Amino acid sequence: MESIHVKTVDPIGQDLLRGAAAKGLDLGWERYERLQPQDGFLRTGLSCAYGCLQGPCRIDPFGRGATQGICGLDRDGMVAASLLRLCLHGALEGLTEANNQEPAWPAELGPAAKKAEKVLGGDVSAADTFAAAKQLSRPGASPDDLLRQALRLSLLTVGLTGEGALRAAGRLSCRVGYGVVSGAGPVIGLCGRPTSDLVAALRDSTGASEPQGQIVALGEWIVADGELLPIACTSGEVEAVLSAGWLDAVALGPDADPAIARLCRSIGLPVFGEAEAAAARMTKSANGPNASQCAEGQVLCSAEEARAGLASNGSAGLAILAGSDAPQISLGWLPTELAPALRAKGLSVAACGDAALWVAKAGLASLDSDRPVSLLDPLRGPLDALAAAGPERVKGICFTGVKTSRDLAFALGLAVLGARVSVATPLPLWGSAGVRDLLNEKIAALGGAFAHWDHPASPDEVLAWFGES
Ligand code: SF4
Repeated sequence: MESIHVKTVDPIGQDLLRGAAAKGLDLGWERYERLQPQDGFLRTGLSCAYGCLQGPCRIDPFGRGATQGICGLDRDGMVAASLLRLCLHGALEGLTEANNQEPAWPAELGPAAKKAEKVLGGDVSAADTFAAAKQLSRPGASPDDLLRQALRLSLLTVGLTGEGALRAAGRLSCRVGYGVVSGAGPVIGLCGRPTSDLVAALRDSTGASEPQGQIVALGEWIVADGELLPIACTSGEVEAVLSAGWLDAVALGPDADPAIARLCRSIGLPVFGEAEAAAARMTKSANGPNASQCAEGQVLCSAEEARAGLASNGSAGLAILAGSDAPQISLGWLPTELAPALRAKGLSVAACGDAALWVAKAGLASLDSDRPVSLLDPLRGPLDALAAAGPERVKGICFTGVKTSRDLAFALGLAVLGARVSVATPLPLWGSAGVRDLLNEKIAALGGAFAHWDHPASPDEVLAWFGES
């Protein structure tokens, strides 16, 4: 617990972690620490990504052990194939949510998308996933071909973002912070990307309870009946909030981590899914935190709103903070340090995802504050901002953490469209300097840049990167 400041920058969040430790609860931090060191081969891209059962083959990152797989695959081929496999997963996630629709990019970025398609070998489509799967069945393609296919899939992933996560037009008000959990009626926490049917059933149940209950989102951005549900915490804080005993029940969507249901059961917190939501009994038993621990902001939900909301206003350019919480970096450290520092350099700042929740929690998105940070759709936000402001005015898009393959493919895809993009957490590319150089060359040829570090980046390092533009 003496290292608690490296887990989260939020003092109340630190208290929640101390409280959980006092109750003997195992949260994500304890599991993360117990898993260290995580697999160095996978982390560097040197664990073979091909669909081959002769392995597992792994190449020694330091050159003291194996330098090739059984088939002769070398480190360049292995790292390039690892990136392609991640981008394939990312594109498949995008295709699943887009119901196999054809990719489309904002009109302003149409020329950049066309140029990328031409340079990378022609129009991209869902068929690129089959081509990638074939390449990943057996080694044979060169690192150059593997990277080209990875970039095609990244462009495809961006083109499949559709209406974004909020699927809303205009601006939505948002309330963010632990204080949204307070209230006289029962409070139900929602997590795991719940379906609209689950949300509707819960609204019926809480509306019928006496006193009337309320639903709060836990690390999720959920629109119901044209309004954004209040958000109690970022994705990395969910278990700490559950352990606080503030909630009366938890409803789980299909993507909830297994640890959530386990933790709820261990502390006697009722937990249910979509099938049980309509019949869930809503009673008030928990005491919430102080209602003042909450902040407000407005989300620019669509490309049109981003265009109107991100007008230059005389600023030196636009900096975008995106991405999810990551266990490697103290929660909230990057967004809450970077946003004011970037503003101090004369830049406008926009944010989405967990990064947006952190700046909102810190009051930096309040319309009463000086030059508030603009909040964007958690999925499409950086794309809308890039289209609205143009690659020249966007000084950089920093993903403070990436969680899914889709996040990574999306970040790479923005670079393919000509943006300067960075990822603050290490990516599995450090096993091959040749592949990193080749990737940089390919993205530079498209007018973009893609930076990342071999360690969790500090705010100073990211700030210096923004300053390089
Ligand atoms: S493709 Fe080659 S390196 Fe990969 S597991 Fe099979 S034999 Fe090993």
